Amino acid sequence: MSYDVIIIGSGPGGYVCAIKAAQLGLKVAVIEKRATFGGTCLNIGCIPSKALLHASEVFAHANHGMDSLGVEIGKPKLNLEKMMAHKDATVKSNVEGVAFLFKKNKIDSFIGTGKVLGEGKVSVTGDDGKTQELEAKNVVIATGSDVAGIPGVKVDIDEKVIVSSTGAIALDKVPEHIIVVGGGVIGLEMGSVWGRLGAKVTVVEYLDKILGGMDGEVSKQFQRILAKQGMDFKLGAKVTGVEKSDKGAKVTFEPVKGGDAETIEADIVLISTGRKPFTEGLGLEEAGVVLDERGRVRTDHHYQTNVPGVYAIGDVIAGPMLAHKAEDEGVALAEILAGQAGHVNYDVIPGVVYTQPEVASVGKTEEELKTEGVKYKSGKFPFSANGRARAMLASDGFVKVLADAETDRVLGVHIIGFGAGEMIHEAAVLMEFGGSSEDLGRTCHAHPTMSEAVKEAALATFFKPIHI
Ligand SMILES: Cc1cc2nc3c(=O)[nH]c(=O)nc-3n(C[C@H](O)[C@H](O)[C@H](O)COP(=O)(O)OP(=O)(O)OC[C@H]3O[C@@H](n4cnc5c(N)ncnc54)[C@H](O)[C@@H]3O)c2cc1C
Repeated sequence: MSYDVIIIGSGPGGYVCAIKAAQLGLKVAVIEKRATFGGTCLNIGCIPSKALLHASEVFAHANHGMDSLGVEIGKPKLNLEKMMAHKDATVKSNVEGVAFLFKKNKIDSFIGTGKVLGEGKVSVTGDDGKTQELEAKNVVIATGSDVAGIPGVKVDIDEKVIVSSTGAIALDKVPEHIIVVGGGVIGLEMGSVWGRLGAKVTVVEYLDKILGGMDGEVSKQFQRILAKQGMDFKLGAKVTGVEKSDKGAKVTFEPVKGGDAETIEADIVLISTGRKPFTEGLGLEEAGVVLDERGRVRTDHHYQTNVPGVYAIGDVIAGPMLAHKAEDEGVALAEILAGQAGHVNYDVIPGVVYTQPEVASVGKTEEELKTEGVKYKSGKFPFSANGRARAMLASDGFVKVLADAETDRVLGVHIIGFGAGEMIHEAAVLMEFGGSSEDLGRTCHAHPTMSEAVKEAALATFFKPIHI
C-alpha cells in the first residue's frame, strides 16, 4: 500500500498531523504500537493527570474550602476506586475520540511497531510478530518521549512502590507518605493530587528552586503556597540512591553544595526527573537518521531530518515537551507537506502547571531577559486586589507583565492564580500579534473577572494600575 504520508506514533503530534494532512487532501496512514491512539498525552499523561487533579481538587475544596463560603457539608469521604474509574473513563472517551477522527478523515491505522527502512519505506510489526511493508512519499517520526530516570543513579521503577508518572496516576490506595524526586511540573502536579487526598508529600529537588525554567518570582511564591498546603521541600538536594525498603522505599540525597547525606523513607517514591526522546526500535541508525547530542531526532526548520522524505515532530525533537507544541508542529508539517507555508512561533508557547492555584506563563522570564541583556519594564498586579478573586476566596497569586523598555512590546506574561491556565491565552494572542502592554491595558475587560488582573498588570507596565 502506498501513501502520501505515513506517521509513526499517534500522540498529539502524530494524530494532529494526520488529521490536518488528511484535511488538506493527502492520503495518510498512522502506525501506533499501543492498543489505543492518543500517545502519552491521552493515555498516561495530560488527560488522566488532569482528571485526577480536578477530582482531587474537588475533594480538597469540599474538605477545606466550603465552610468559609457558608456551605457546610460535613467531612467528605474519598472513594478512590470511583475517582480512578472517572480517570479511566475520561481516557477512554478521549482515545476513542481520536479513533473516530481517524475514521472520519479516512486515515488508515496500523497497530504495531513502526520502523523506518529508509527513504519512502516503513515496516509495521504487529504483536503476532508479522511484519508488513508500507510505502510513502513522506514519513513522519512522532514517537514522543519516555521517563528519563535520575542521571547516574540506577533506579528500579516497578510502578508499584517506585513509580514514574504512569504508576502515580494508578495507585490503588492513598500513600501515607510519597517522596517526589524532581520538583518540575509533573512531580508537583502528582504530589498535589496525592497530598490533597491525604498523603504527606516531600519533594526532593536538585535545583535551589522548584519549576526550574519558570520566572523566579513565580516559583518562589508558588513554593510558599504549596508549603502552606502541606508540601515539604528539600531543595538543592542531589539524590544519590533510591532503593526498596521494608516500609516501601528509601531516598538518599546530599546537599548539592556539599555536606552530609540524608535518607528518608516513604511508602511510595515518584521519580519525576524529566523525560527523554523515544527512538528505540525505530531503526534510525540503519536508516541513517541523525540524532543530536541529547538523543533527539535532528531536524531543520521544516521538520526534515537529514534523510530526504523523513520528518520528525513533537517530544522526539528539540523544544519544550508539551502536547500543544507537538500539535502545532503536526499542523505546520502537514501544511508544509501539502505545499503550504507551515510555521510554529516558538516564542509564544504557553506553559501551564495545573495545580491549585495554577501557574501559567508565556514568553520570556525576567531571568532570561537579564541574561540576554534585553532592557525591559515590568508591571505586577496581585489577585488580592481583584474583586472577583476576593469573592471566590481565590486571592493567592499575581500577574506579571514584561515588556520591552523602548517599544513596549510584550515579551512575557507570568500568572500564578486561580484559572491562570485559561487567562494566559489573552497574553498569547496579544504576543502573537506583537501587541504592547498599552494595547492590553487599554482593552476593555469584563468586570468582575480574574482577567482584570491581567489588564491591571499591563496598566502597571506602561503607566499605573487603577486598583492598587
Ligand atoms: C504525567 C504527564 C502529564 C503531562 N501533562 C501535560 C500537560 O498537562 N500539558 C502538556 O502540554 N503536556 C503534558 N505532558 C507532556 C505531553 O504528554 C507530551 O508533550 C506529548 O504527549 C508529546 O506528544 P508526542 O506526539 O510528541 O508524543 P507521545 O504523546 O509520547 O506519543 C508518541 C506515540 O508514539 C508511539 N510509538 C513510539 N514508538 C513507536 C513505534 N516505533 N511504532 C509505533 N508507535 C510508536 C507511542 O506508543 C506513543 O503512543 C504530560 C506528560 C506526562 C507524562
